[in-house]
Amino acid sequence: MVPETKLYKNERITELGIERRCPMCGEWWPADDEFYAKGKNGRRLYSYCRACNIERGQKQILKLYPNCKRHNIIEPIPILR
Ligand SMILES: [Zn+2]
Repeated sequence: MVPETKLYKNERITELGIERRCPMCGEWWPADDEFYAKGKNGRRLYSYCRACNIERGQKQILKLYPNCKRHNIIEPIPILR
């Protein structure tokens, strides 16, 4: 039986497995939850890598709440080991 591999447009198969290209930094990262945060349903991975996702989130928060000190304080999330 062929394992079910559904590739998205931004994904490719390498000898190490499926990699995904982050549209923000343009880097290829392994498409697993170590490099990409998982969505709400716990299955789909975000299109942006963890580092960019955090950066994006912070920009979004600053845009939405430019004067809110509470929202400007963001706890650092461990990214890559
Ligand atoms: Zn990225």
